[in-house]
Amino acid sequence: MARMPVIAGNWKMHKTVEEARALAQAVRDGAAGVSHCRVVMAPPFTALFPVAEILRNTPVILAAQNVHWEPEGAFTGEISLPMLEEIGCGMAIVGHSERRQYFGETDATVNRRVRAILQSSLQPVICIGETLEEREAERHYDIITQQLAGGLDGLTRQSLLRIILAYEPVWAIGTGRTATPETAQEMHAFIRNRLSGMFGEGAQEVRILYGGSVKPENIAALMRQPDVDGALVGGACLEADSFLSIIHYNA
Ligand code: PEP
Repeated sequence: MARMPVIAGNWKMHKTVEEARALAQAVRDGAAGVSHCRVVMAPPFTALFPVAEILRNTPVILAAQNVHWEPEGAFTGEISLPMLEEIGCGMAIVGHSERRQYFGETDATVNRRVRAILQSSLQPVICIGETLEEREAERHYDIITQQLAGGLDGLTRQSLLRIILAYEPVWAIGTGRTATPETAQEMHAFIRNRLSGMFGEGAQEVRILYGGSVKPENIAALMRQPDVDGALVGGACLEADSFLSIIHYNA
C-alpha cells in the first residue's frame, strides 16, 4: 500500500495568537485542494484552540508539540490527551530533540507518551535522531536502534500502523545543514529495516518523515527518496510562503 506523505510544521515557541491565526489561515487557504500529502501544523499551546477553529472541517491536521501520559492531575506545565482531543487535535509530536536536550526527555518518557497517545484518538509523531558527536563517532546506527527499542517498547503490530516516525539528525536541526537526500535515505531504510525486525511486515506502511533544515529548495530531492515519506519542518514553516512551497514540492 502506498504511504501517503505527511508535511508537518513544528512552530516551536513562535507566534502569538494573532500571528498564529494569520499563518494558519494562509496555510489552510494555500493548501486547499492538496491531495498528494497530508498537511499538519503544530502551534504552541496558547494557539492550539484558535488554530483548531480555523482548521475545523478542513483536511489540515492540528498537532500538539508534546503531551503528558496522564489524563489529568498535578503536573504543572503539562497538557493532557483529553484536553487535546476536546479541541480536535489529531496528532502529537513526542521526543523532539529539543525536549530531550533541554527538558530531560528520555526514551522511557517518550515511550510512556506514545503508549498513552495510542490509547487516544491522536497519532504520535515520534522524533529520533543522533547528535553530531554520535555520528562522528559512527554510533548513529546504535543510537537510532536504541531510540527505536526504547520509544516503541511494548507496542503491538496493530498499533505500529498508527505511528509516524520523524528522523531528525540533531546536527541538521536549525543549523542550515541538511542531510543529503542519500544520507537521509540510508538512515530511513535502516529504520524501516529495524521496524521490520521488531514488528514484521507492517513496517512497510509506517511513514518516516525527515527533519532538519528542510526548505523549499531541498524538499523535492528529499521526497524522491523511496523511504522518505514526508518532512517535519521547523524554521521554514513559520512563513506561509515557504511552508506552502514545501507542501507543493511536487509542483
Ligand atoms: C525541527 O525542529 O523539527 C526542525 C526540523 O527544525 P528546522 O527545520 O528549523 O531544522
